[in-house]
Amino acid sequence: MGNAAGTTGSAILTKRESGLTRINNRSDVIVMPAVKKKYQTTNTDLNLMYVTRKLYLLCLFLMCAGAALAQEYTLLLKGGHVVDPKNNIDGVMDVAIKDDKIALVAKNIDPKKATLVVDAKGLYVTPGLIDIHSHNFFGTQPDHYLSDGFEALPPDGFTFRVGVTTVVDAGGAGWKTFSTFKRQTIEHSKTRVLSFLNIVGEGMRGGPYEQNLADMDSRMTAMVVRQNSEIVGIKVAHFSGTEWDPVDRAVEAGKIANVPVMIDFGGHVPPLPLRDLLLTHLRPGDIFTHAYARLTGRGPVMDDQGNPFPYVQEAIKRGIVFDVGHGGGSFMFSQAIPAIRQGFYPTTISTDIHTASMNAGMKDQLNVMSKFVNLGMPLQAVFKASTWSPASVIHRDDLGHLTAGAVADVAVFSMLTGKYGFIDSKGYKFEGTKKLECELTLRAGEVVYDLNGISKPSWTTDPNSAAFANKK
Ligand SMILES: [Zn+2]
Repeated sequence: MGNAAGTTGSAILTKRESGLTRINNRSDVIVMPAVKKKYQTTNTDLNLMYVTRKLYLLCLFLMCAGAALAQEYTLLLKGGHVVDPKNNIDGVMDVAIKDDKIALVAKNIDPKKATLVVDAKGLYVTPGLIDIHSHNFFGTQPDHYLSDGFEALPPDGFTFRVGVTTVVDAGGAGWKTFSTFKRQTIEHSKTRVLSFLNIVGEGMRGGPYEQNLADMDSRMTAMVVRQNSEIVGIKVAHFSGTEWDPVDRAVEAGKIANVPVMIDFGGHVPPLPLRDLLLTHLRPGDIFTHAYARLTGRGPVMDDQGNPFPYVQEAIKRGIVFDVGHGGGSFMFSQAIPAIRQGFYPTTISTDIHTASMNAGMKDQLNVMSKFVNLGMPLQAVFKASTWSPASVIHRDDLGHLTAGAVADVAVFSMLTGKYGFIDSKGYKFEGTKKLECELTLRAGEVVYDLNGISKPSWTTDPNSAAFANKK
């Protein structure tokens, strides 16, 4: 119906804007005064024209109504290589969308049934990516770090352009500040913004705030988690004491609210034993972020010979989630390369994006995913670690897949080949030959990013270009 309305409007626009007259066999021809004399009409002619015009409009209406009924889908992604790990799909398929939902994933869906058809041949089509370690509680409070401060980032500028449709802010807000985060970021973002609530009531304000055991309240934290569906877990970060209280209180809150905890561990010299954290304090399903970090104050996962510590292998078997959380200082090739060579893949791939990582080695979700592709992790596993696995980890089974009826968060990628360099958090480079690039992102069925206009009509179909579009 949109096209027909546009065509009718085009004649009017042609008249108004260019002063040109279009004479054709249609009945809604607009005749300019200057040429009226030449094509002077009689009353009978005018009556005939009036009736013809009415009939034309009626036909147009019926055609539009018919077309609308025939079009089952609002958007069809045609011929892309679909990777949907939850549904074990890995091959050329079409993805049909109706409004904000996935309608059908199948081979050879009739393009006539869709209002908009996007040619995805040669491209990968996946569920919208989920970044479970992000920092989006941005604000203008001085000295507030990642909690209503300058170091956090508004999500929409960093998500859709790399295929991310959901982020989980990792501990920016605590139970005292979540309502500000919700008003300020969650309600004003097109990206779906979720939260790991900090065990610290004040959230991730940095410095002494994050060391204050008196502000780590399991019950208040659990209560606010249960009151807000956007909160999917609890975060511990940056604590540098010898006490286990922050971890244990977060796990306690996690038990009450039935959500996982994410631990950014360490800070004490000598480090607290990683073994105790992974095998004693955390529960299966809890998340160990910054998996491939090698930092003072925290033990690494790989030993100096490039083998995972036995307790790390045990933790994997126990169901501890190993999350990348690349960030500005937490991803070293010296840890990741031997891990990937031995098949120790991250459960979830995430950015830990903030102002100190966005322009460093991390850059964005796709750059981090491309690193793992070049290190030898299979592409399907890389997509799984960025879609279905993070959705499962945060108990959001409604996300991260393309099942009919699911929300139509979809990403379309090209795989570039060439010579690329990737940088780790210590500043070391790894050279690779592949790089993912985002072509198109849909959020709830709406095109929110389109790098090369694959979802857009040619400029020659713009009514304002009609007069000269086909001239050379
Ligand atoms: Zn972080």
